[in-house]
Amino acid sequence: MSQFGEISHLLQRDVPLAKYTAARLGGPAEWFFRARDAEDHARLNDIMLAAWADEVPVRVLGKGSNVLISDQGVSGLIVVDQVAQMDYYSGEADTWKVQATAGTGLIVLARGCQQRGIAGMSWAVGVPGTVGGAIVNNAGAHGDDMAASQPIVTVLEHGRGLVTYTPDTLEFAYRSSTFKHRDDKRFLVRDAILTLPGDDPLTIKAQMDEFNAYRVRTQPPGASLGSIFKNPPGDYAGRLIEASGLKGHTIGGVQVSPVHANFIVNQGAGTASDYAALIRHVQQVVAQEQGVQLELEVELLGQW
Ligand SMILES: Cc1cc2nc3c(=O)[nH]c(=O)nc-3n(C[C@H](O)[C@H](O)[C@H](O)COP(=O)(O)OP(=O)(O)OC[C@H]3O[C@@H](n4cnc5c(N)ncnc54)[C@H](O)[C@@H]3O)c2cc1C
Repeated sequence: MSQFGEISHLLQRDVPLAKYTAARLGGPAEWFFRARDAEDHARLNDIMLAAWADEVPVRVLGKGSNVLISDQGVSGLIVVDQVAQMDYYSGEADTWKVQATAGTGLIVLARGCQQRGIAGMSWAVGVPGTVGGAIVNNAGAHGDDMAASQPIVTVLEHGRGLVTYTPDTLEFAYRSSTFKHRDDKRFLVRDAILTLPGDDPLTIKAQMDEFNAYRVRTQPPGASLGSIFKNPPGDYAGRLIEASGLKGHTIGGVQVSPVHANFIVNQGAGTASDYAALIRHVQQVVAQEQGVQLELEVELLGQW
């Protein structure tokens, strides 16, 4: 039996992915595995290695908060890694080492740090992704980002086994890392060790409350993918979209948010095709009206 055949009894077939993405959109995965507990987590390496050995394409999702999955779905295997495990170690000069598995939710991590008087992750309190997705994207907010926590990242890679990346090898840039634009997607982020400063828990909490209040004031609720486009140097994608008269523009069941123009909200009956059509429309109109080509922050997965 092939290696993939040997592990295939652990997998599900034709699983709709919409509920595993923040936009609540997308068709089925041909093969599907969701890691939820320590036992699943331990199996992940074998599953990835077996799929890679038999050339089955694999994509890993955390919370699916930065991916638009096609209505036609995804061929090959989708692995959803949501296994959360955090360990906190106090270090020298009021610094901390925090080890978190890739599937740990950023919001849970930010709150866990706050309770122990660990600063530096407050920016993540309103970001609905996982540590794995945040490493790949160098997620950030409020002038801070993942790179600032100097992560040491353990990654399972095709042909290389477990590889350790230090901050100088992660090539962090604005919403990007060495992993983001790799053509070869045969890697699995396992965990990260962050170096973070200590601070008073109440001071950290006050800052997190402020960040949350800011989000409530400036960003729409509902099913979205956060910021769709990167901010071009010296400007804001949201400002350019608004200046092009696109706030509230709707295609099918999806809308450019009237609250924040860089958000596209699935109003319930939307499809991934509507979402992609609206993205393209916004890019065209902004290019015509403002002379700026907006670059995607979100990733399109599957057959388009
Ligand atoms: C309402 C809302 C607000 C948001 N606000 C912000 C914000 O302020 N700042 C910001 O930076 N982002 C923001 N985002 C986007 C998103 O939350 C971040 O990019 C987040 O880091 C993505 O994490 P995820 O687990 O959802 O990744 P996913 O969307 O599941 O995946 C993103 C990418 O990472 C890869 N990946 C994920 N986990 C692994 C792993 N373990 N191993 C290998 N590859 C992996 C995926 O294959 C994919 O390429 C927002 C999104 C929403 C919906």
